[in-house]
Amino acid sequence: MIKLTIDGRKLKAEEKATILDVARDNNIYIPTLCFNEAVAPYGACRLCLVEIARGGRKRLVASCLYEVEEGLQVKTNSERIANNRRLVMELLLARCPNNRAIQDLARQLGVEKTSFKLEDNQCILCALCVRVCQEVVGVSAISLVNRGVDRQMATPFYEPSDVCIGCGSCAYVCPTQAIKFEDVGDTRLITMPNNKMEFKLKRCKTCGNYWAPKKQLDYIIKKVDLASDAFDNCPDCRG
Ligand code: SF4
Repeated sequence: MIKLTIDGRKLKAEEKATILDVARDNNIYIPTLCFNEAVAPYGACRLCLVEIARGGRKRLVASCLYEVEEGLQVKTNSERIANNRRLVMELLLARCPNNRAIQDLARQLGVEKTSFKLEDNQCILCALCVRVCQEVVGVSAISLVNRGVDRQMATPFYEPSDVCIGCGSCAYVCPTQAIKFEDVGDTRLITMPNNKMEFKLKRCKTCGNYWAPKKQLDYIIKKVDLASDAFDNCPDCRG
């Protein structure tokens, strides 16, 4: 076990645990937007910055990426951290001034307005959707494209993706609800910042309800080698 101190509390942690892991395990709050336990950390949003001290040197690190070390001293809420988080939040608020999740978090961190030029986005480019699609779903239907101010999350060539299965996982994990999906009749609509996609839903043989995208069910059947009729019935009607 590794011994470290967070906000004056002496703690023990497994090797390879990150500072964020240990903080969460010990009910120490560190704000995050781009973190999700289901995928590898990425350090995109920079909200989880903490201050570490080793050998008389202090510096800020992303707690979702920084692995614990013996004797490490961590502060999660110094004035320097608060100033950095407020700066990050001001930048996010300028990028997404009309997004409820960003407005709420900004308020929570004491940021009421931003001094940066206002844009009108919903996506903060945290790539959580991209990572979930790739690492959890195993599809890689979306990615971050372009550089600098033109950076965007998109499907290839901004066209409806051939490989997207309409599962909606990207929408579930998006911290700012920049991706939306809804089922209307026999169709699932997925709306991304740069395009819309439609997927036909499978109808349950027993109750007649439309319940999941055919493409998603076909993908699961192939991936785990199920019988072709494995999803003829919805979960409610399965025996
Ligand atoms: S809906 Fe499409 S883009 Fe979103 S996670 Fe599923 S496969 Fe990936």
